Amino acid sequence: MYQVNENGYFGEFGGAYIPEILFSNVETLKNQYRAILEDPSFQQEVDQLLADYVGRPSPLYHAKRLSEHYGCQIYLKREDLNHTGAHKINNTIGQIVLAKRLGKTRIIAETGAGQHGVATATVCALMNMECIVYMGKTDVERQELNVQKMRMLGASVYPVTSGNQTLKDATNEAMRDWCSHPVDTFYIIGSTVGPHPYPDMVERFQSVISREMKEQLQTKLGRNYPDYILACIGGGSNAAGAFHHYLDEPRTQLIAIEAAGKGTDTDETAASILLGRLGILHGSKSLIMQTEDGQIIEPYSISAGLDYPGVGPLHAHLARTGRSTVLAATDAEALTAAMELTRMEGIIPALESAHALAGLSKITFKPEDVVVVNLSGRGDKDMDTYLRYI
Ligand SMILES: *Cc1c(COP(=O)(O)O)cnc(C)c1O
Repeated sequence: MYQVNENGYFGEFGGAYIPEILFSNVETLKNQYRAILEDPSFQQEVDQLLADYVGRPSPLYHAKRLSEHYGCQIYLKREDLNHTGAHKINNTIGQIVLAKRLGKTRIIAETGAGQHGVATATVCALMNMECIVYMGKTDVERQELNVQKMRMLGASVYPVTSGNQTLKDATNEAMRDWCSHPVDTFYIIGSTVGPHPYPDMVERFQSVISREMKEQLQTKLGRNYPDYILACIGGGSNAAGAFHHYLDEPRTQLIAIEAAGKGTDTDETAASILLGRLGILHGSKSLIMQTEDGQIIEPYSISAGLDYPGVGPLHAHLARTGRSTVLAATDAEALTAAMELTRMEGIIPALESAHALAGLSKITFKPEDVVVVNLSGRGDKDMDTYLRYI
């Protein structure tokens, strides 16, 4: 019920709205990805890299002081401990191995904060592939360390000067590049967005998160499901990975937390499920923040990874069918939650993950409730922001 259908739709959301020039490229990917992903030798190569290179399985940590504070049993899925500091590497490992099997020689990617750019440049260095990363000029300037990392890893970083010069514009530019190089180039998309089959493919690569969660809960608690899973939503990939194996488990409530920015009642927000309307962006139909006449509204969040005007089609569908509950956390609430985790557990979270943590204060739990928060990344990249506000 929550799987993609053969035309690439999750309910009314998804599809592949692409220019003619990309048709055969995307068609080939669509026809081959399932068989390649299910091939045992592909799985073995990916699993080996996830274990020895990324450092999986990531721990499921029982946060005792945080649990006491919120009156329930809180477990953190520690994606922050992965190589390169977030869940994004799970996906780039999968896509680079896929690109190699498809005979591609040139990799392109878009990036906002630079996390997906770094994860892509990393796997390109690993596999000796040419790597081009499109990044809005505003982001290039405010995420200097990640730009330097990408360059050190051998990637070319192209600052994009159109529009707001942020993630949406970088994605437009990557799409344009893809149209000019449809044969030799593989586009590694960083979230569960883009034309079919990307949303489904990225969800499958991230589903390792809930696959491990099931085993870890079974070992720790003798039951393999939690009562709640909380995850932040930018494009939706860490949440899709954390939810995947529980989509058909009615005992688990799925909580998606969007970035409210300065508030969902202001113009400075990135809550695209709560405020968006049906539209098409970057190749798929989903909920998009837009004006009456369909112009994209520039999103705002303190967290660059959540600063996107759309959302993956899976999450639009989960929200519309009532399978997920969507909450929004403001900049201020995320900062408070980040400080709380830091002081109570000695873990500095990414600002994106801090939005998931902020969801804890919006739910009334019972003492025996088992709550998993997907800690999607670590806070190193956000130190400047933390120092400025706290
Ligand atoms: C990029 C990023 C996100 C947002 O992307 P999703 O695809 O929604 O997961 C969340 N957390 C971290 C740490 C990120 O780097």
